[in-house]
Amino acid sequence: MPFLEDISVQYVKGVGPARKKLFARLGVGSVADLLYFFPRRYQDRRNLTPVAQVKVGQWQTVSGKILAKDSRRSWYTKKHVSEMTMDDGSGRISCVWFNQPYLDRYFSEGKRVVCYGKVDVYKNRLQMVAPEYEILENEEDESLNLRRIVPIYSLTRGFTQRYLRKTIKASLEKYKDQLSDDLPVALRNKHRLSNIRRSISNIHFPESFEDQEEALNRISFEEFYFFQISIILRRLSITHKKGVAHKISDAAALRFMKAFPFELTGAQKKVIREIRADMQRDSPMLRLLQGDVGSGKTLVALFGCVMAYENGYQSCFMAPTEILARQHYENIKRMIGEGAFKDMKVALLISGIKKAEKDRIFPRIKNGDVDLVIGTHALIDEEVGFKNLSFAVIDEQHKFGVRQRALLSEKGNNPDVLIMTATPIPRTLCITLYGDLDISVIDEMPPGRGKTETRLYRQDQSNEVYQLIRSKVAEGQQVYVIYPVIEESEKLDLKAARNMYKHFETKEFKNLSVGLVHGQMKQKESREVMDRFKNKEIDILVATTVVEVGVDVPNANVMVIEHAERFGLAQLHQLRGRIGRGESDGLCILVAEAQTSESNDRLKAILSTNNGFEIAQRDLEIRGPGRFFGRHQHGLNELKVANPMTQLGILELARKEAIALTEDDPKLAKEPNRYINDIIKKRYPTYLRDVKAG
Ligand code: ADP
Ligand code: MG
Repeated sequence: MPFLEDISVQYVKGVGPARKKLFARLGVGSVADLLYFFPRRYQDRRNLTPVAQVKVGQWQTVSGKILAKDSRRSWYTKKHVSEMTMDDGSGRISCVWFNQPYLDRYFSEGKRVVCYGKVDVYKNRLQMVAPEYEILENEEDESLNLRRIVPIYSLTRGFTQRYLRKTIKASLEKYKDQLSDDLPVALRNKHRLSNIRRSISNIHFPESFEDQEEALNRISFEEFYFFQISIILRRLSITHKKGVAHKISDAAALRFMKAFPFELTGAQKKVIREIRADMQRDSPMLRLLQGDVGSGKTLVALFGCVMAYENGYQSCFMAPTEILARQHYENIKRMIGEGAFKDMKVALLISGIKKAEKDRIFPRIKNGDVDLVIGTHALIDEEVGFKNLSFAVIDEQHKFGVRQRALLSEKGNNPDVLIMTATPIPRTLCITLYGDLDISVIDEMPPGRGKTETRLYRQDQSNEVYQLIRSKVAEGQQVYVIYPVIEESEKLDLKAARNMYKHFETKEFKNLSVGLVHGQMKQKESREVMDRFKNKEIDILVATTVVEVGVDVPNANVMVIEHAERFGLAQLHQLRGRIGRGESDGLCILVAEAQTSESNDRLKAILSTNNGFEIAQRDLEIRGPGRFFGRHQHGLNELKVANPMTQLGILELARKEAIALTEDDPKLAKEPNRYINDIIKKRYPTYLRDVKAG
């Protein structure tokens, strides 16, 4: 019997070539896809409310026969109005829709219709404005769409809810028995999880919300379980390898910590201890370092690089952008200059360097003439070979995938890998996504930093904002002014960096020095501007989000963010993290007009706290994990149904079972477990690729 994945959705009753194309738009190609095309939500139509008993002001479902329909143009708003009146035997209610003239044809008298909406009273009559509506053609239609909990699916043009329900029902009837149950029976029995056939049925057409929830939990458990197994296997595949066991004496560690003009924070010391212990073992380290912007992660990473150097090995440091790579290079050179490891040789490697430069630097990396290479993803270029890489740092994990991580590991003899992120992730999600990593957290800021105050201004308060900028510059401060776009456009009514720069330079701040930097400039130009800003030759720097990550100008303590409602929460936090880095207090001015409740939530969050963990948590709540991490982020894409934020208990249960399984049988070689290898291969193909590469 063929797998349901291999049977085209076209073989389901009611699907022809044209509909097949529509299904493709929903990401449904096979019968399996269709069965796993879960409802977005449900509507409880078990108890229809008789029209005579509806409550005004409440959302209700009513159903009856269409008594009359009508269409007209409102003399007042000039809108097209479609009206339909239904009668359910107990009373009448009219439904109106605006500017949807095709509805005039859709409704016809005598047909049975069901509507869900908020009940109003208009001119003494009951009314619903723009309710959800469905026409029911026949008895069968009624059994699927009325007097039950009905599923509501995501639609595409050309599909109706009714059609999807009918088609999914048909596919369930025909193919349900071919659904194979991947969860071991023992596990199902142990946790009282129902079989897959029952669960898939109940996801689509539950008799009660308890059944629906049980089905969802069962399917989520399965997803979490296999996903966790794949993560654990990947980790094992790396940590079972033999890497370098560095020798790190107390004296060496102490020498490093005493090498700076300041005292390390307790959190930095704690993480250095964790890294030291890892480096001393011969199995490769795989560690995620979370810490807010400016918490001093770079220094902690440098510890590993220096220890590798003192053991006679090379290290590397990979940053997501060229600006950042350069900045790390400058910073680290400075830090090294301060320390007792001045002889360490550091090189910068970025993309697009000239052949002559490549010819010079590649051999030096290859023969060990360079101890620490700082660069962009140019580091994982095939041509780059190390003599003996034993420690690798990856900054800003979000910008790199798992694949890059694996490629970097390949450059050395299973080097210790430290991944740094300034977007702290709540623990629960960390386990889901990075369960293959050990986790360190820097939860303390270096002392003596200024505090940053954040204020909100409206668009029409520009003059006040400009006045504030002037007075700050007069105090000797430097100011960033951030815009969401470079150019003005007709589509978006936004102030843009280039225009505002002109305006500032020639009018508003013509007696001050104004600079401009954005992502479309040549690297060389933007570097020049940044250097001039650093050297205090520029008072006001107009910029786009190119300054989002890592740019470090201690004397710039004021930031104005225009159209702040357009920026994501993490982005706002990163931007704001650029100021308050010196000794004086920072001032962050958000100029915004919240257009949506979501942008309002974001502004509220950024105004209420400076703590990166709290902001990340709020961001997750506002956006949900899928959007929080972005589409390409590994881990969440693979989870189709399960949601680590809302199903924490199930996640933990599944993880516990996955750990138990892999501890007992790490190679999945025992007879009853062998089939799991195939499942993982099928579900997480990229994971296995990574395992091989790593
Ligand atoms: P992150 O990478 O976490 O954003 P950095 O490592 O760039 O932070 O540190 C920001 C600044 O703080 C750097 O200039 C660094 O030299 C300085 N710094 C790091 N640790 C300390 C400390 N313990 N005390 C004072 N300053 C510190
Ligand atoms: Mg940094």
